[in-house]
Formats: sequence, C-alpha cells, structure tokens
Amino acid sequence: MISKKLSSYFPFLAKYFSLYFEDGDKKFPQSIVFEGLDPYAQCFFALELARNLNCLEDAREDCSCLNCRWIRENKHPAINFASQIHFKPQEDETKTVISALQAKAIEKSLRETSDYHRFFIFFDAKSATLSDNQLKSLERYSPELYDICPDKDWSVNHINSKTFNPLTPNILLKSVEEPPERTTFVFLTKNRSDLINTIVSRSQCFRVPSPVQKNDVSNISWVFEKYPNMTLEDAFSLSESLRGYIAENDVDCDFILDSILAYLISELKTASDVNYIQKIRHDIENVSKAKRHLAASMQDKIVFDTLFLKFARGVK
Ligand SMILES: [Zn+2]
Repeated sequence: MISKKLSSYFPFLAKYFSLYFEDGDKKFPQSIVFEGLDPYAQCFFALELARNLNCLEDAREDCSCLNCRWIRENKHPAINFASQIHFKPQEDETKTVISALQAKAIEKSLRETSDYHRFFIFFDAKSATLSDNQLKSLERYSPELYDICPDKDWSVNHINSKTFNPLTPNILLKSVEEPPERTTFVFLTKNRSDLINTIVSRSQCFRVPSPVQKNDVSNISWVFEKYPNMTLEDAFSLSESLRGYIAENDVDCDFILDSILAYLISELKTASDVNYIQKIRHDIENVSKAKRHLAASMQDKIVFDTLFLKFARGVK
C-alpha cells in the first residue's frame, strides 16, 4: 500500500512503484537515479519507498511500527544516507567528497546479512544554513513526516561533478552491480548526466517532479492570462499547453480542473461587474461539467477543448 500523501504529491510515480508493493514477486530495482529540480522531494520519495519496503504493517501514513518510526526519526539501521557528512568511516578525513573509503565501507557493510530492505541514498550534503527555498521544501514534508536534516545546519543537494572523489564511482559500481538481495541504491540528481554513465546504465531513472499542492493556483496562473477574453484560437492552444503541463509535472487533469475552479471562486469573491460575475458563475458550472465528463472517462483533450471553447464563447 502506498501512502495517500505520496499518491497526491506524485500520482504517476506512486502508481508505478505501488506495483512492486502489490506484487511481492516483482523484484524491486537495485539502483535508482532520480532526476528533477527538488532534492528534498527526491529524498522524501526515497524514504517513503524504504518505508513501504520495511513496514511491518500496511505502511499507512501514520503507521507506528518500529521500522516506520525509525525511518521517520532518521535512525533506521538499514536506511543510510551517503554524503560528505553521512556514512563516513572513522579513519576517513575527507570532508568535501564522498570518498573511496566510504565506497569500501559500504561494500563491507553489504557482506553482513540484514533482516531489512537496505537503502543507500546518495546526495551532495553541504553544511550550511538552509536557504529560504530549502526550508520551504523541507517544511512541506518534514514537520509531518521526516526530519530529513534535523539540525537544519546541513542541506540535501543534487549530486554534481565534485560530489564524488574520482575513484569512488568505480568502487561503488561493484556494489551497485551485484548487491545482495533486498538492497537499493538511490542517487539524487538534477539530471542523470551528472552521474557517471556506468552507474546510470545499471539503474532505473525516474523524474521526480516538484510536487504541486492541490488548488495551488499560483502554479498555473498562466492559464488565466487570457481569461475572461479568450478567442477560439486561445482555447485550443491553452488545451494543448495544459496537456503538456500535465505530462511535464506529473499532475492529473482533475487537479488542473480543481485549480481552475479555485481560481474562478477566488475571482467571484472580488468581482463587482454584473456581467463578469454572471460569466464566472457560468464558467464554474462549465468546470463542474468538465469534472463529470472526466469522471465518465472522457479523454483529457476532449474535456479541455470543450471547456475552453465554452470559456471563449461566453454566456449565450
Ligand atoms: Zn509501519
């Protein structure tokens, strides 16, 4: 079972991975490369996967089994961060790279058996005060779910060309290639090209979109640029751009309709012109109809085309 939060933040990715949790015989990927703009979203996603694979119960959001609690508190013995700060052997004095010694320590740790599904989550850690953006991203997950960086004095960043000592990836490769059962490596990148190709080619790559919150109109404010004076041409081009946006951002058509609805309702509250108010009311009704069409399995394209043509034609 995949948590509701994960499905609402990342509908398509969550659906993809839930196949592994439903079918116990499907072998979970041994190495995963995440791409995307938000390293915290990626880290959160990796931890949720680890939680689903280790939970002793049904992995629901508020599960309080020992494994879920440990993962939430960042002290699970088998869920490891690997960075310039994490998973450093004592004798390792490097501070700016993930060193060859670390890769060897990981290799050694894999020789011991484990009762858990082990995770090694690789990223670039910087010991620095978090920026506003990083705090915002952390806030989105951390208070409710994970203290990803508890003291807020180091940050999760994408792997870049300087993250690894040049010798590290090749040592690591051996573990990535032939890990013991129930072991997964995760690499957090902006783009897979930031990681050496030999690792990428042995991994499954996924784009983790920056999650959008329900009804967060600011994300798609461009949709309303031409509203309320849309031409028929605007209607078709908007329908097309929105379908592109859906594919890019891992949101569904229903989310877009909800956001449009939220925008129209907020407009209604401030509108004073009688004709404009009438138009908004009419269009709110049109969006509700579009939601019903969608629920009846009508294609996104037809739903959007029909809706925006109605927006363009106005009140008859
Ligand atoms: Zn649990």
